[in-house]
Amino acid sequence: MVEFEIRSRDLLARIGRLKTKSGTVETPAFLPVINMAKQSVTPKELWEEFGCRILITNAYIIKKQQAEKVARLGIHSFLNFPGVIMTDSGAYQILAYGDIDITPREIIRFQEEIDTDIATILDLPTGWAVSKKHAEHTVIETINRAKELEKLKSRNDILWVGPIQGGRYLDLVAESARRMSQLPFDIHALGSPTPVMEQYLFDLLVDMIFAAKMNAPFNRPFHLFGAGHPFMFALAVALGCDLFDSAAYNIFAQDDRYLTTYGTIHLKELEYLPCSCPVCYRRDPREFREMPKNEREVELTRHNLHVCFAEIKRIKQAIIEGRLWEHLMIRAHGHPSLLQAMKRLKDYSEIIEKHSPLVKRSGLFFFSSIDLARPEVIRHNMRLKERYSPPEKAKVLILFPSFGPRRTGKSKRYKKILADTCKTLRIDKNQIHVCFYVPPFGVVPKELSDVYPLSQFEITRPLDVETMEYVAQRIMEYVKTNRYERRIMLVESGTWQEEIAKICMKYFREDKRLLEFLTV
Ligand SMILES: [Zn+2]
Repeated sequence: MVEFEIRSRDLLARIGRLKTKSGTVETPAFLPVINMAKQSVTPKELWEEFGCRILITNAYIIKKQQAEKVARLGIHSFLNFPGVIMTDSGAYQILAYGDIDITPREIIRFQEEIDTDIATILDLPTGWAVSKKHAEHTVIETINRAKELEKLKSRNDILWVGPIQGGRYLDLVAESARRMSQLPFDIHALGSPTPVMEQYLFDLLVDMIFAAKMNAPFNRPFHLFGAGHPFMFALAVALGCDLFDSAAYNIFAQDDRYLTTYGTIHLKELEYLPCSCPVCYRRDPREFREMPKNEREVELTRHNLHVCFAEIKRIKQAIIEGRLWEHLMIRAHGHPSLLQAMKRLKDYSEIIEKHSPLVKRSGLFFFSSIDLARPEVIRHNMRLKERYSPPEKAKVLILFPSFGPRRTGKSKRYKKILADTCKTLRIDKNQIHVCFYVPPFGVVPKELSDVYPLSQFEITRPLDVETMEYVAQRIMEYVKTNRYERRIMLVESGTWQEEIAKICMKYFREDKRLLEFLTV
């Protein structure tokens, strides 16, 4: 059983410690793809200069080119890297070139022989533009090969990766995940998402990762093959990817492309260097352009690596602070396709809620209706529906507007309005139950005002239409579910409260007694 200890969580992301025979690595981890034929920054430099503790290389390519030497030296000496080494099996080559001349048994034996730390079976990648029938075949064939592993392997100190196939057919991804997770793998991985990422179909990637994660054991680490660009690392981590590899840092540098956390810029388009890494500090783009090609490639690779590793640190800090959602929102605004993926999270908000930690360190920021999918909003409304009932004596419900119920509940203005309302309506204070209507949460009973995070948040105003619609729906849900003799919503005219009241009125046209509106 894999030793994977979770230290901190946020959304589906986790900071963990993964134990391997060559040491323990902290996750989430970005694994640079090493191709010794094209490597401008060596593994040793990755270890020393970048603090890189885990990398990935392709066992199939190594076997084709230098099998004997690597087997003799071992992969750690061959690469001159003292950290953790993961090997891929050649599945990507199958996808790129069709069939390859190696058997599943050979690649298992070879990975053991070269003493890798994390190994991958030779799965059959589904690919992108394929029929469902072919996709089904890749799933079944991968499972059959996976079942063979137990018979073929001879060591027990290597962690084995069980890739999940199915491509864009989500039911197949789920099926593949269910069946692979019954086998004794240490790590699972989503196979062949590269075409999805190259085409920026991040919303589909969200679907694929959820289909896989929800059907695989949560206590096993999850790897995303070919994660690509640092601008989507936060998304991958938030969805529960603990490990992901990328060759982009190297491939992009060969083509004079400069990575940033919001996109890629070609060197010839740069007038300034928007980065303060050791490579860019005190340099300008002209110096880059005037370098000999080789040197420029090395320097660009180093910059690209700094961007990738810095982003991982930012993500980890955001997890610790409980601000990963906010970090995701910043990254999502770097590209429309990422924001599209963020919108897709709404479909999975209940799953995200289930796995998110209960209390965070900081207050929440709400920017737009996309944030309505946040686990804290979902959680509050689930609990209100499932676990809450109003005090027994309460006869009259008064809904009071608020952007922070704790603060509102203590204000003089609130007390005066409430006293005046009681007088106007001729009701006794003891009979009323005060609830606040609070964007974006909906209805917050006064006695819950102190519960985190119902008073610990900031929201952008004016509210967008979807957020007002959401609050109105929660109000309607609440008044329909809970028994009161009268239900009164206090509204200040000419404000957002009136907008929400209008939406409620529209829905309650058929039964006006459900909710009365009182202008204050
Ligand atoms: Zn830089």
